[in-house]
Amino acid sequence: MTAHLTSPDRVSHAQKAAAGAGVDALLVTPGPDLRWLTGYDALPLERLTCLVLPADGPAFMVAPGLEVPSVLASPVRDLDVEVVGWGETDDPYAVIAARLGSPARVALANRMWAEQVLRMRAALPGAEQSLASGVIGELRMRKSPEEVDALRRAGQAIDRVHARMAEFLRPGRTEREAGREIAAAVLDEGHATVDFVIVGSGPNGASPHHEVGDRVLQAGDPVVVDIGGTTPEGYCSDCTRMYTLGAPPAEFADYFAVLHESQLAACAHARPGVTAESVDAAARDVIAAAGYGDAFVHRTGHGIGVETHEEPYIVEGNATVLEAGMAFSIEPGIYLSGRHGARIEDIVVATPDGIERLNVTDRQYVELGA
Ligand code: ZN
Ligand code: ZN
Repeated sequence: MTAHLTSPDRVSHAQKAAAGAGVDALLVTPGPDLRWLTGYDALPLERLTCLVLPADGPAFMVAPGLEVPSVLASPVRDLDVEVVGWGETDDPYAVIAARLGSPARVALANRMWAEQVLRMRAALPGAEQSLASGVIGELRMRKSPEEVDALRRAGQAIDRVHARMAEFLRPGRTEREAGREIAAAVLDEGHATVDFVIVGSGPNGASPHHEVGDRVLQAGDPVVVDIGGTTPEGYCSDCTRMYTLGAPPAEFADYFAVLHESQLAACAHARPGVTAESVDAAARDVIAAAGYGDAFVHRTGHGIGVETHEEPYIVEGNATVLEAGMAFSIEPGIYLSGRHGARIEDIVVATPDGIERLNVTDRQYVELGA
């Protein structure tokens, strides 16, 4: 990806946070933490690439010699990070161990491969291992104004795709045919990658993570369209809207009204100072009161940033107190097995006194010509 949004401060903030958490070093292999910290969108390979952030000491990155040109072509070149290339017969784990001495605690990127975790353990036998989410997740969860701007642009890009849905959904074509054109539109409207395309028509809409299948769209179908991608800046979009092909079944219109009220209630409740789980309850209470509680089968939302799903999760049991700058989805759903289902999803960001919705297209279902 190009034009990645990073800040040299992230590396030093992560080092300070590690020190505050009693972690001697953060070990970050390719994945979302590395992208967030450095802007380097490295290929995950069996040869070790690892950013090492000591709590006290200079940051460095070990990388296979043949990958060093890619590292130096990335935003890493602008950071105060020494790049240490290793040759085909060198042991990069030994290189890290020699530089770190004997740390008591290291934190590993959550997406590190198991084979790397075990080799780190062998190379640093005295170090207790923990997950880097305890340090880096806390930083990633609180978006800077620049990150909120990037998420707003991602939201606008996916909104433009939803605004074009009449081009793609028609009776007589399959979900897969529609999905292929929607995926092309996700790229055309400003994303670098398509992360997922869900077109759940009729009974397939009752399966929340159905992607696309060979079902032919039919007049009267409610259709769940949940789509997202990653922008060239490295930030994700994720938005669900409902469409119907002509007039929907009466039952659908009834529970959609409940769902719409639920989504509004959760958005009205969400603000700094309330817990993540209370936002889930605000959505769930409306649906349960209308008798559809058993049909809302998933959490209300998830954080979003350089990953589609990250902290804070909007779910019962998560007592995290929301703060301005936290970005997450509010996406209640009602699913009637074998018949149809509905979900409404917006990405929102907490502001000092409420939330801002980053998806702004109409939340009512859109009746397309059948
Ligand atoms: Zn979604
Ligand atoms: Zn989502």
